[in-house]
Amino acid sequence: MPGDRAGKVLVHEGFHCQLHKRQNSRFRWRCWQKECRVPLVTNDFNLEAENPRIRILDHKDHMHDVEMRQINRAKVREDLKREDPTV
Ligand SMILES: [Zn+2]
Repeated sequence: MPGDRAGKVLVHEGFHCQLHKRQNSRFRWRCWQKECRVPLVTNDFNLEAENPRIRILDHKDHMHDVEMRQINRAKVREDLKREDPTV
């Protein structure tokens, strides 16, 4: 939905994935890059936790390079303002 980019972002091995929806006790995420948008599925973990136990259940290869190379494990962060990931 346009204008609805705010929310939870999962950083998985440097790839930013935005929370899409919760379904069947799983979270479904989508790559933040418009031209990519590959899906990522994780377990249903506590989004508010400081260090949640995140299990990647399914993911596909991205069509682009990793955005932040130094991040090598899954982590969630809040992103409330950024619209365009290329800025
Ligand atoms: Zn991607």
